[in-house]
Amino acid sequence: MKEDYYELLGVSRQASQDELKKAYRKMAVKFHPDKNPGNKEAEEKFKKVSEAYEVLKDDQKRAAYDRYGHAAFGAGGAGGAGGAGGPFHDPFDIFSEVFGGGGGGGSIFEEFFGGGTRGGSGRGGAQRGSDLRYDLEIELEEAAKGVEKEISFRKPVQCARCNGSGAEPGSGVVTCPTCGGTGQVTASKGFFSVRQTCSTCNGTGQKIEKVCTTCGGEGRVNETTKIKVKVPPGVDTGSKLRSANNGEAGIGGGPSGDLYIVIHIADHDIFERQDENLFCQIPIKFTLASLGGTIEVPTLTGKASLKIPAGTQSGTTFRLKGKGLPSLRGGYYGDQMIRVDIEVPTSLSSEQRQKLEEFALACGDADEPVGKTFFDKAKKFFD
Ligand SMILES: [Zn+2]
Ligand SMILES: [Zn+2]
Repeated sequence: MKEDYYELLGVSRQASQDELKKAYRKMAVKFHPDKNPGNKEAEEKFKKVSEAYEVLKDDQKRAAYDRYGHAAFGAGGAGGAGGAGGPFHDPFDIFSEVFGGGGGGGSIFEEFFGGGTRGGSGRGGAQRGSDLRYDLEIELEEAAKGVEKEISFRKPVQCARCNGSGAEPGSGVVTCPTCGGTGQVTASKGFFSVRQTCSTCNGTGQKIEKVCTTCGGEGRVNETTKIKVKVPPGVDTGSKLRSANNGEAGIGGGPSGDLYIVIHIADHDIFERQDENLFCQIPIKFTLASLGGTIEVPTLTGKASLKIPAGTQSGTTFRLKGKGLPSLRGGYYGDQMIRVDIEVPTSLSSEQRQKLEEFALACGDADEPVGKTFFDKAKKFFD
């Protein structure tokens, strides 16, 4: 009586391909003849687990085994009960399975030995969809408060006709004619005869009978997609938001890529931004600067009052605490800086002019030029 393949590998009948592979690797390493020289028992065990794995790793063979047991493979089984009659396991295959397979990382082993890159689902040729980038421009006010935007763009999405399988509805799957279902073909490379993944079926050993008429077998089609994007408060130009699974659909039933939204803040008429702080310039009349008073200034959230002390000089910067942008990580707000520029009247009526001349006289400006101290210093410099 032949031993049960699942029991040999120490896995349940529901074991995934990954679990099978792991169990097999463990056994293969433990009982490998190189590690157990002269140990007949280990060699026997090694052959048995190899045979079991050989069957169970193949979805078609596994299904047949599940249904019919060892009878599925004729009298004596695939490997022969005693091992003597069975084909000795191709040593290269061990390497490919133990060291090269599964990762898909393009290791040297894989290239030479065509290691199984099939995923746990057994859906070979499945590829993750590409990531996408979308550049989104928003207003400064929106960046301050956060905003929800609906964006639309074209991208490959799963084909509705074939649900991403690439097969015409009702059409079945047939054994790949190129590799005869093994998923591998033998090719000559100089002195070597190497096994490679079959390019017709990408190693799945299966081929779609009739390709989907909508997507031509790719399993996806280009469509305009609309998605809602939540932009958090505090984003800046260059901030990246990741929207998982909203990139291109995968190929052959593979997972979708991600969507990256890159934020751009539009130029603002009044404000300039530096991190969380806002800067603006406001012109004030020279009388206000001299006498002092209160003015209304714009902020991102509305108007605010700003006290201008008497004697304010042009270029003075005032700070409105907390009137900047929130920090992206939360916790605090930046400030708003207001630089005042003093406006000098450009045209004076004769009455205004007379008053100003009186004012100049009252200040003694007629015999002492404005900014005397500056000229005193300049004089010292030239001397
Ligand atoms: Zn389709
Ligand atoms: Zn093939």
